[in-house]
Amino acid sequence: MCTEGQNTQDDVRAAAESAAPLASRRAFLAGAGTAAIVPAAATLLGGRLAGAASASPRGSRSGDFAPIPARSLGPAVNSDGYFVGRISGNLYWVTDSVYISMFLSTTEGVVLVDAPPTIGHNLLRAINAVTTANGRPSKVTHFIYSHSHADHAAAASLFGPDVVRIGHEQCRSLLVRDNDQNRPPPTVTFTRRHTLDVGGERLELTYHGNNHSPDNIFIYAPDYRVLMFVDVIFPGWVPFKELAVSQAIPDWIRAQKITLSYPWETLIAGHNGRLGTRHDVKLQIAYVDDLLAQARLTMASLDPSPLFKKYGNNTWAIVDAYFKEASAQIAAPVIDKYLGKLAAVDVFTVDNAYTIFEFALRVDGGVLGPFGIHP
Ligand SMILES: [Zn+2]
Ligand SMILES: [Zn+2]
Repeated sequence: MCTEGQNTQDDVRAAAESAAPLASRRAFLAGAGTAAIVPAAATLLGGRLAGAASASPRGSRSGDFAPIPARSLGPAVNSDGYFVGRISGNLYWVTDSVYISMFLSTTEGVVLVDAPPTIGHNLLRAINAVTTANGRPSKVTHFIYSHSHADHAAAASLFGPDVVRIGHEQCRSLLVRDNDQNRPPPTVTFTRRHTLDVGGERLELTYHGNNHSPDNIFIYAPDYRVLMFVDVIFPGWVPFKELAVSQAIPDWIRAQKITLSYPWETLIAGHNGRLGTRHDVKLQIAYVDDLLAQARLTMASLDPSPLFKKYGNNTWAIVDAYFKEASAQIAAPVIDKYLGKLAAVDVFTVDNAYTIFEFALRVDGGVLGPFGIHP
């Protein structure tokens, strides 16, 4: 972000704070100074934990886990629980510090990508703050689903029945299946590529195959060199549990590298509270590569035969103990290596190690170790 963008962010934040109604959750907050540092985890819970959360300043140790590096955190949210900032030109981002949306303010209306329910009505407040300041229309005319998952999309219904909803054709199939009134299916679908031109602004939507979900797309703003791609890269943070509970692990691993094939300067990855850099992507790829290398070593060396003796005819107890031991072995050196570099690496690396071991290596990779072809 340039200096000019930062000024605009401050303007927008000031406008957002002055324009915001006294939300009910604000009543839970002890005061404006406290509100500014309330982590979004507290706002997620409707502010009920705001008092407790505010006692823990940034970068401090929380519970049994290592401190969160300052560079992994984004801007503080306002007293309504959100931050809105300009990325470049007419392109903005909104976050509650856990989820992130993106929107384009055009001469014809707003193009919004994703509507996480935890940001919810704050999306409308953020859009109103920006469009009040720039004089452009505040109505959301186009809504894009990055993918169908409710945690990124269940506020889609806030924008009324007339909004043009766009998503991959598999996004439509999944949302027809889910029959969720908060996530109406896309009205415009595509299979490979779709270019959206609205009010002088352009977004290029591309499907590169399965990864986190079968419908997850890349959304590129060529005029601003900004890529939005959700639930694969976690800027500054360890990937969420079990590699973001993804459905096609070898494809999820490959998708990390596809992001680098775009000439973006800023990445919106859908999570945590800050924008992503190319360094963030390379660091995550290195982390996943290290997990893969450790998983191969563990597959070759871990002997399950003592577990057969210990658990007898309880087959599930044998394999459960085997996976737990393997995950712990894989994770230990990787946690050591990335402590202080990736936030919460000590929270989810054992789960991520399991996913790499079971899917990338064993069931999808065919690297079977002691469970290979019987002699
Ligand atoms: Zn998802
Ligand atoms: Zn997600």
